[in-house]
Amino acid sequence: MIAIGDLKILAVAFLTTSLLLIAWGDAAIAWDAAPSTSLQLFDAHAHQMPTSFPEGWLESLFATHDPMGIVLMGIGNVAVHQEEYPSKVFAVSNFKNVDDLDLDTVEAHLDMGFHGIGEISIRHFASGPPSALPVESDFDEPEFLSVYNLARQYGVPVNFHFDYHADHVNEILDTLPNYSDVNFIWAHAGDAQPETLAPLLSELDNLYIDISSRNPLESFDGRLLSKQLQRLDKEDGTIKLGWKSLFDTFSDRVLYGSDIGPLGRLEQYGDIQEYYRGILSQLDSEVAEKIAYKNAQALFLITVLGDANNDNQVTGGDLIAVQQNFGETYSSDPSCDGLGLGDGNDDCLVTGADLIAVQQNFGDTLESVSAEAPEPASVCLLILAGLGLLARR
Ligand SMILES: [Zn+2]
Repeated sequence: MIAIGDLKILAVAFLTTSLLLIAWGDAAIAWDAAPSTSLQLFDAHAHQMPTSFPEGWLESLFATHDPMGIVLMGIGNVAVHQEEYPSKVFAVSNFKNVDDLDLDTVEAHLDMGFHGIGEISIRHFASGPPSALPVESDFDEPEFLSVYNLARQYGVPVNFHFDYHADHVNEILDTLPNYSDVNFIWAHAGDAQPETLAPLLSELDNLYIDISSRNPLESFDGRLLSKQLQRLDKEDGTIKLGWKSLFDTFSDRVLYGSDIGPLGRLEQYGDIQEYYRGILSQLDSEVAEKIAYKNAQALFLITVLGDANNDNQVTGGDLIAVQQNFGETYSSDPSCDGLGLGDGNDDCLVTGADLIAVQQNFGDTLESVSAEAPEPASVCLLILAGLGLLARR
């Protein structure tokens, strides 16, 4: 039901939009850039290594490989990068294993606006120098339960490394239902095979997998399973049927990631992207886009209310996005995260209510999203539009 008052607001909103369009003319169309020809990738699993990464590595990675976003799970001061690139870098609070856990530090990170916790090594093959020992903790150790509680409190996902082990997988099965409002990302899909993963994903709605490290590049050598079982495709590059079917069935819960950090991988960033683009190109485009970036956006991106064109700010471009997509529904977007073009109020529909969301949040950006909501900007907009109209006469 639409009340008379709502109709009036709608009418004002439409009028404002039209006037703005007339006033701003072509200048406001700049957001409508041509889409990139190759599939965009949002890197949901990356590490910074301050000791081995060169100065300016991130800028150079952006310039050369242009990931849509990158989730930095330590090490080093990832907060600085997030501050510099708030719409592209997603800092995650990192600690190596249960012995290194300091809950106060994790909480301080989350207070600073970190977007998740991980990668937590719960069961991890020996990695690093030859003296390195494997990590063999339980998924449900009390210390980890405290971490999951923090994740719940702050509404952030947890990325965990847990080399699949038949004797221990029940710890995951028993724990996740107790944290149904926390999303758990199983790094590298546990180095498990699709037929093992399918029943787990089927049973646990809050379980995600990232497919980082599941490639045959040499910098990913040295795991517990053979290269042939590690990779998602056959040697000729054809995706294995088990993976294809898993991706199709659980398309909303699979994430791309590079797992840069260990030696040699940063230099292979382009090869990593190329490998996964090759895999994703063998899937339906809708499934491929979800794995490539949409699922990561839904998990890590804070959507700005009123941001109808997904550029992390609320401007005249959002009014245009609403207009151009008016009447659209995004039922294929199960989380209704507002990433459908024109969907400024995150309800999966493009209606007059989105125009109001744009108006009421006009001028907001990702940086100011946690601040108090500003006064409705309708009056300001009308004055602007009126001036623009006068100027054109
Ligand atoms: Zn990792």
